[in-house]
Amino acid sequence: MKNKEILDQEGQTFASASRIKYFDMVIDSGKGAMLKDVEGHEYIDLLASASSTNTGHSHPKVVEAITKQAQKLIQYTPAYFANVPAARLTKRLADLSPIEGPAEVAWGNSGSDANDAVIKFARGYTGRQNVVSFTGAYHGSTYGSMSASAVSLNMSRKMGPLMEGFYKVPYPSPWYRKSYETQDQFIDRMFEEFKLPFETYLPADEVALILVEPIQGDGGIAKAPEKYLQKVYEFAHEHGILFAVDEVNQGMGRTGKWWSIQNFPGIHPDLMSVGKSLASGLPLSAVVGRKEIIESLDAPANVYTTAGNPVTTAAALATFDVIEDEHLLQRSHDLGQEAKEFFDKMKEKYDFIGDVRMYGLDGGIDIVDPRTHQPAVQVATKLIYRMFELGVIMITVRGNVLRFQPPLVITEEQLHRAFDVIEHAMQDEADGNI
Ligand code: PLP
Repeated sequence: MKNKEILDQEGQTFASASRIKYFDMVIDSGKGAMLKDVEGHEYIDLLASASSTNTGHSHPKVVEAITKQAQKLIQYTPAYFANVPAARLTKRLADLSPIEGPAEVAWGNSGSDANDAVIKFARGYTGRQNVVSFTGAYHGSTYGSMSASAVSLNMSRKMGPLMEGFYKVPYPSPWYRKSYETQDQFIDRMFEEFKLPFETYLPADEVALILVEPIQGDGGIAKAPEKYLQKVYEFAHEHGILFAVDEVNQGMGRTGKWWSIQNFPGIHPDLMSVGKSLASGLPLSAVVGRKEIIESLDAPANVYTTAGNPVTTAAALATFDVIEDEHLLQRSHDLGQEAKEFFDKMKEKYDFIGDVRMYGLDGGIDIVDPRTHQPAVQVATKLIYRMFELGVIMITVRGNVLRFQPPLVITEEQLHRAFDVIEHAMQDEADGNI
């Protein structure tokens, strides 16, 4: 059957509001960085299922681990009894975590519920209610994580009231830096803006949590300046506020380190949420946190029947093995540098490319109006549709930012083929052909 037929005849549910529709494609299979649709068209995937398949599609070692575990035991709820893969994964996550001192793990099924759990642990442990997060943040779709998010009005429109006690401060994205400011002046100004609520209406000693994406994903693939985040981190600790990082999108090797916060020397979060690529895309998430924080809540404060399920945790153990055995952190770093060079070259060639940001295989490429330098959403949209026609999958965030997040196993040959397609689409735009 063809893509369109499946969508028209059988895909009524595809019309649901939860689906953001980009292309009329029904995926049939995937291998590494390649995808195939039901008509047999092949695509190079530069999205990695929203960064949830860092080890590539259906990696043989992950498939083997899932199969073996499924034959042994598919599910027994970790709420009642431990299981071997979950126990092993707890140790592995705790050992690799950026948290100082003993760490403990709590399981979830999605990045959204992991961030809800972060909020629960912070409130429970500190006995305080208020949560501070950042404009441009996407922390998930459940009420807690949605209340901490501020990326699009569509997220919360008609769904209010959101949870009480949530406050937003401006994220120091590079496009907010004024042309006359040095980087240090920018950081100082953003930190003054960060402190403003605490000096006027939000007593710091009533705040439980500061939750941040060290590199924002849906907010535009933008990294907070290191000095800025260091100041926020110190502020949190001075005032007994827990400092949590959302690694759901940028963790698991995406930025060339296990966790994106490891790009910020000297910061050791109290809590961290992980998901997406943790189990190579199977529904598993985790909160990793200082032991005494995680142990401060008693069951059933944060329990989900299938969270920490043996099959998903076995998949996660295999995922960790693949990242280590195939040196994917180094690969992410090296191929990311190559990608940066490529997109910088494109920026010199095409005046509709603004800033190029790349942190490992984690890139944001701004498409702008050459005269005004304002976001050019239409051009960005035309580009990704042309790329799709030419066999490359890329989407946008913030409307005008090309999101570059391929599986970390992408081969050099696939990457170069993708670069050729991207350049082809950009030339089509420059020639007025699209
Ligand atoms: N946090 C970040 C940074 C994300 O990018 C996402 C998803 O895009 C989430 C949390 C929510 O994860 P999930 O969609 O698995 O609930």
